[in-house]
Amino acid sequence: MSAVKSVWQYYAPSREILLLLEVFRRMVNDSIRIGLVNDASSLRKLSLLSYNQLAHYDSPSRYKLCAISRAAGILAARNKSARRGFPTRTPYAVRQQLVSCYGFKVRNGWLEIPVARGKRFSIPLTKHVLEVISQPGVKVRSFTLTRNRLSLCIAREVATVECTSTVGVDRNLRNLTVGNDHQTRHYDLSKCVKIANATVRIVASFTRDDTRIRTGLASMYGQRRTARTGHLLHNATKTIVAIAVQRRTAIVLENIEGIRSLYQKGNGQGRKYRGRMNGWSFGEAQRQIEYKARWVGLPVIRLSRRETRGSSVTCPRCGERLQSDKKLKRKLWCSGCRIVMDRDQVAAVNLARRGRVRFARSRPLIEAQGGAVEAVKGNPTPTVIPGVDAPKLTQPTKS
Ligand SMILES: [Zn+2]
Repeated sequence: MSAVKSVWQYYAPSREILLLLEVFRRMVNDSIRIGLVNDASSLRKLSLLSYNQLAHYDSPSRYKLCAISRAAGILAARNKSARRGFPTRTPYAVRQQLVSCYGFKVRNGWLEIPVARGKRFSIPLTKHVLEVISQPGVKVRSFTLTRNRLSLCIAREVATVECTSTVGVDRNLRNLTVGNDHQTRHYDLSKCVKIANATVRIVASFTRDDTRIRTGLASMYGQRRTARTGHLLHNATKTIVAIAVQRRTAIVLENIEGIRSLYQKGNGQGRKYRGRMNGWSFGEAQRQIEYKARWVGLPVIRLSRRETRGSSVTCPRCGERLQSDKKLKRKLWCSGCRIVMDRDQVAAVNLARRGRVRFARSRPLIEAQGGAVEAVKGNPTPTVIPGVDAPKLTQPTKS
């Protein structure tokens, strides 16, 4: 399995690089225009149409190809949106961004890229970047330049981790709960909520009557907030993936597509509650877990909305619907088992179990290993939830 991720750093551009960035942006926009006029969005068609028309640009020809490829990507994204019925505007590249997979070299800790015929520009790579790209098996596929950042796309071949069990990751406002039948673990993220609240308060306190300045300041604080919460999330997701690899458990996530529509104006929720729920970086947590897992070859199972229905209110022991009580904060009561359970733990355990059912169906060959017997044969009979897990076990097994 091939895994891809990127690593970035800042750099100081030269005048030539800035010029090249602008030329690249214009070439992309030219190709987009040509593609729109001729209704062409495939790379092949677009390069046949626009390569000759880019002849007057003073740039290495490999960048022309990359510009066309980028334009094709932008056009394809637009077509996709149009197919799905989203309104689209005429695409136009505003930000300067140069992507290329040709002609660069990493030599003695420098990245060398061609800027004009016979001329190269060298960027000193930071210690961190060098460390990442010199790991065994890592290949640099392409580089991306903006006005102050260099990003390297790197790839490597990884063997898939043979998993014997699953672990569910339940995302909540104040924590990530990771667990399965054996144990659960909380990753406290209440600090993210605090940071978000502080940012909202600060931005709301700006009273200057000039939207441009207010927007500028708000975006500054927004970036700060993203950086701080991102850091906290990175710490948690890194540990989650590392532990999952160690225990050979595939990660099960709830697909949270469309979660924003749950908290929209007119849904009968308070403004503050909506703001809090929409301020949560559900997608970011998922993105981090998925790319980190992919990089080490750990399988990730995404459960659809239907598969996760009721996962936080169903008793993992008997399948009874759990009762909530104002007095029990984030705790639930099962009238069948007569015990109080933690809401987040219940969700994580249920996710792990439902994911395991799917996992067992798709890869029945790992039975030989210890824990898998339990998972594959549906051996933990006391824990199968009637009406939820059982029907899925009976579905035909694909091999
Ligand atoms: Zn129960």
